[in-house]
Amino acid sequence: MSKDRTSFLTRLLDERREQQSFRELRLPGDKVDFCSNDYLGLTRNADVRAYIHRLMEERHPAHGSTGSRLLAGNYEWIGSVEQDLANFHQAAAGLLYNSGYDANLGVFSCLGRKGDTIIYDQLIHASIRDGVRLSAAQAFSFFHNDITDLEKKLKHASGNIFVAVESVYSMDGDLAPLAAIAAVCGQYGAHLIVDEAHATGVIGEAGEGLVQHLQLTAACFARIHTFGKAVGCHGAVVLGSGELRDYLINFSRSFIYTTSLPPAALAAIEAGYATFPYMQAERKKLAALIAQFRAGVATSALLPGTTPIQAVLTRGNEHTRNVAQRLQQEGLDVRPILHPTVPKGSERLRIVLHSFNTTAEVDHLIKVLSA
Ligand code: PMP
Repeated sequence: MSKDRTSFLTRLLDERREQQSFRELRLPGDKVDFCSNDYLGLTRNADVRAYIHRLMEERHPAHGSTGSRLLAGNYEWIGSVEQDLANFHQAAAGLLYNSGYDANLGVFSCLGRKGDTIIYDQLIHASIRDGVRLSAAQAFSFFHNDITDLEKKLKHASGNIFVAVESVYSMDGDLAPLAAIAAVCGQYGAHLIVDEAHATGVIGEAGEGLVQHLQLTAACFARIHTFGKAVGCHGAVVLGSGELRDYLINFSRSFIYTTSLPPAALAAIEAGYATFPYMQAERKKLAALIAQFRAGVATSALLPGTTPIQAVLTRGNEHTRNVAQRLQQEGLDVRPILHPTVPKGSERLRIVLHSFNTTAEVDHLIKVLSA
């Protein structure tokens, strides 16, 4: 390709390099994992792996799904996994998507119609933002976790109103004040949609998520649980009424126009969920490691969340990169989160704790951070 035809790419990449925000794909290597979303270590659990293999042998004769759900890709096992997930999460119905990104894109792009309103937390995940962009509804953000601002936006809303929040915010690691949000949504007749990506498997007696933990299932119009995190595989489920499920099957384009999940994914989802109720010791250990980390770091730069996602504000792309590099040299896999992924001035280290991390590893991390 001639230089002219690629020069706009070169220019844009150079801009990224100048801003120290150039993104690279990296392999984790053999460093201590303070980065992955495998909160409970299910992706490396030998019992889960053996169970997945057994399910694949026993449950379905093919290893591909062969088409979209509306054509050849609808097989019996998918429907039964959806019903099991709905039962586990105390919902009337569930619909599987190929990823959390697809689920949010598919839900938000089709629910809000012309004249409707979508209101979302300013720190909401990119997948919901993209879904909102594709929707014909008007949309406003509200200040992060700010009920007063949410109510202000609700007062100006029209048509069907949808409010989107996460139960655990993916970059700050803090919780949404869900009970207060549900109450104000009830007051204004708004449909509350909660993305439980980082709460799945981690929050609740059996890892059911924050909504069930707070007994707010009846206050939610829809919930999205994703499987790429604590479940340890891939995919997502949208939970809600049977009517919502039928609506999505008919109008949600990221559900309709794609090949459905393969049996291997279903086996991993089923095995992950079958394991959750027996992971109480792991959840307890994870909570202890989070407390150890927070007590040890005790810096004003530490954001307040008490979840496995611990954010340390380092500010500035260059500085954040340098600190992350130092941690990497010490054998600790901590990644920098740079602008434009987060707003300028809030660049950070996103440290993820897992039930399989040891107290010695967390001590090492604290020492390097303190230095
Ligand atoms: N929602 C949130 C809050 C997330 O953090 C993510 C993943 N980063 C997603 C949705 C997308 O999920 P998936 O990785 O399964 O596409």
